[in-house]
Amino acid sequence: MTRVYNFSAGPATLPETVLRQAADEMLDWHGSGMSVMEMSHRGKEFISIATEAETLLRELLAVPANYKVLFMQGGAIGENAIVPMNLLRGKASIDFVDSGEWSRKSIKEAKKYAATRVVASSSGTAYDRVPPRAEWQLDPEAAYVHICSNETIGGVEYHFTPEVGGVPLVADMSSNLLSRPVDVSKYGLIYGGAQKNIGPAGLTIVIVREDLLGGALPITPSAFDFSVVAENESMYNTPPTYAIYIAGLVFKWIKARGGLTAMETHNRAKAAVLYDFLDATTFYSSPVARDCRSLMNVPFKLKDATLDAEFLKGAEARGMVQLKGHRAVGGMRASIYNAMPIEGVQALAAYMKEFESSHG
Ligand SMILES: *Cc1c(COP(=O)(O)O)cnc(C)c1O
Repeated sequence: MTRVYNFSAGPATLPETVLRQAADEMLDWHGSGMSVMEMSHRGKEFISIATEAETLLRELLAVPANYKVLFMQGGAIGENAIVPMNLLRGKASIDFVDSGEWSRKSIKEAKKYAATRVVASSSGTAYDRVPPRAEWQLDPEAAYVHICSNETIGGVEYHFTPEVGGVPLVADMSSNLLSRPVDVSKYGLIYGGAQKNIGPAGLTIVIVREDLLGGALPITPSAFDFSVVAENESMYNTPPTYAIYIAGLVFKWIKARGGLTAMETHNRAKAAVLYDFLDATTFYSSPVARDCRSLMNVPFKLKDATLDAEFLKGAEARGMVQLKGHRAVGGMRASIYNAMPIEGVQALAAYMKEFESSHG
């Protein structure tokens, strides 16, 4: 068996030890005689799995007691509709910061339910940065302020938590949740799909401050009404049970490695290998402003785009896959989530150097 270095943006690489444990437990979870996939979500075995997963997630993120952790379905794109349906609370308008493709998708979807204001945008500089906080023109009457904490396609990440006064801050953290510590108390709501940094596709994580619950629009589907989901401890409908189980194993893996502070150190070291190399060459370039570069998704371009296909072919031959950039921006993108070992990033940098010597 050969495992590749998988630089996919999502679904993405998972820790090998987690996959091995899941394989070991596939037919018989802890002597239950059942696979986790075959368990009733209301049985004591699965309840213990879900409870442990929530406890670990709360511990890793130090989630304050007045926040609910919800395990939902629908993905982050689903949440782009579910969040406005739940969080308008009688208000008419939502403020958005536009930092790239994912921000734009959130704005477009929210327009179905509310008036939207773009309080700042970096579209004028090809989404190479987070619009500086000083430029944001916030509406104190907005239902909430929405940001995308890590633009997975553009490779632009917030390296600060914006102060937005009394208006709740809502963040799509799909691609950087659990990559480093987060002060949850600064947010009204955090959401993200699991398949980037946490586990299998199908699980969506929502962390929401309790006082924001209870004001959903009457049209909100019950399964997507945060109050209903919270009252039923994420069991109003059948949750994505197997994905919750795998996420729980990943949470345990993160804890064993020293938690989110250790993850951040590991992720900074990995990103530095690539960015230091990119800064020392003119054969490749990074399109992102230095202080906004993502630790999770590293887009880069070859000076001569006609070499792209050959670059990708050579990478694949060396066991490095999924490096093609998103179709919206072209070029390359290396996604280096928690589970990517530093050896994978070092192998990529070595190959980039080798390719430059033979083609530069
Ligand atoms: C991947 C991603 C999404 C889309 O998630 P789905 O699970 O496909 O709904 C949304 N936002 C960000 C920031 C992402 O990285």
